[in-house]
Amino acid sequence: MIAFWFRRDLRLEDNAALYHALKTGENVLPIFIFDKVILDELPRKDARVSFIHATLCDLSAKLAKIGSTLQVFYGNPVEIWQEMAEKFALSAVYTNHDYEPYAQKRDTEIATFLGEKNISFHTFKDQVIFEKEEILSNEGKPYTVFTPYSRKWKATLKEFYLKSYPTEKYFSHFHKAITKPIPTLLEMGFEETSIDFPAVIPDKNIISTYEKTRDFPAQKGTTRMGLHLRFGTISIRKLAKIALSQNETYLNELIWRDFYAQILWHFPYVVSRSFKKDYDNIQWENNEAYFEKWCAGKTGYPLVDAGMRELNATGYMHNRVRMLVASFLCKHLLIDWRRGEAYFAEKLLDFDLASNNGGWQWAAGSGCDAAPYFRIFSPEAQLEKFDKQMEYVRKWVPEYGTPAYPRPIVEHKWARERCLEVYKKALS
Ligand code: FAD
Repeated sequence: MIAFWFRRDLRLEDNAALYHALKTGENVLPIFIFDKVILDELPRKDARVSFIHATLCDLSAKLAKIGSTLQVFYGNPVEIWQEMAEKFALSAVYTNHDYEPYAQKRDTEIATFLGEKNISFHTFKDQVIFEKEEILSNEGKPYTVFTPYSRKWKATLKEFYLKSYPTEKYFSHFHKAITKPIPTLLEMGFEETSIDFPAVIPDKNIISTYEKTRDFPAQKGTTRMGLHLRFGTISIRKLAKIALSQNETYLNELIWRDFYAQILWHFPYVVSRSFKKDYDNIQWENNEAYFEKWCAGKTGYPLVDAGMRELNATGYMHNRVRMLVASFLCKHLLIDWRRGEAYFAEKLLDFDLASNNGGWQWAAGSGCDAAPYFRIFSPEAQLEKFDKQMEYVRKWVPEYGTPAYPRPIVEHKWARERCLEVYKKALS
């Protein structure tokens, strides 16, 4: 028997490793592990855990319909695999690649253990279109600038890379084990949250006019696919195929996702350090009171505050506003980008280590292909450009314009000059 291990690919359709497992003709036992190592670090009310839980219930019902049973565990994956190897006569484990440093280490450990038991470990590309060394410069080096990377990405793309894996052809190969109840949120120490999740079906109308609508946070002008791409409830191949036929600007955004995934793969040090190493010399002020005001959306800059309040209330923030709040934290408040990155990591439904780190380092100026440090967003000018009618601000900051709304915590011109001075000193 073969085990298929679901991770960031919570779907039955168009799933690379699942397809390869089913195609062997062996019985395939589907499993999921709530990883205690990851879960222990999360707040007890975490909408992402609720999302995974609800998705697993759905997957389990689908599997029951086709005569199989999803086995869901809660624990340390290494120990769970030790248990599995004892309990089932496994010949192989199939799963999709996870590129994050923690996952790499975990998978190596598990592959070694399984190998000792004569159980092979097979992994496949699934969550990106191109991975690892697939897109390199003509000199064989990883790209660190987006435009040439995207050019090579597009030149390399062939129909083959977007082909769906027809798992449904082999659904009869799923194994039926004894039904095992899915651990409840409560049993794992979590509580339900009231946060809503976006629908998994991409809105083709939004995609077709994406370049016109994507910059305005008051509009429904982006697809909200981040969460689904993060947990694999949608296939990236399916989405890229729609993008390719409908809208190049949208396709470019999906390429940014691949771009940051390969940056993390080739330069894993970015997890804790600046991509451009000089930027680690910046003397951050790290004023705690200012950080708290930023988190709470009480900086006195309405577009920044609206963004932070949207994030706190929904687990989502519009991309334009993410760029502004991130820049504001690093440049106006001189707070280390890693503080903001960690706050986003805790709050964002679509949190993805590679894209979040890439976005933060871009905003701080320390990243690959980042905005030059002397280009500092003016929160007022951004408001004028992207929320001129103040629809977004009024939605999230209802007290704006009343005496209850705070005055700006730092003055823009002064903060700008201070930032330039501090950055210049660190980088000279
Ligand atoms: P759409 O605009 O509809 O785009 C479709 C998809 O393309 C997104 O779901 C996403 O997968 C991808 N995409 C779009 N823009 C980017 C980008 N700049 N970089 C990488 N992929 C992109 N994105 C995340 O998925 N996870 C994160 O943790 C994350 N953190 C960010 C932090 C900062 C400081 C910044 C500036 C950006 C961050 N982004 C992150 C990128 C971007 O803001 C979100 O992907 C986007 O806002 C999600 O909304 P959407 O699904 O409606 O996107």
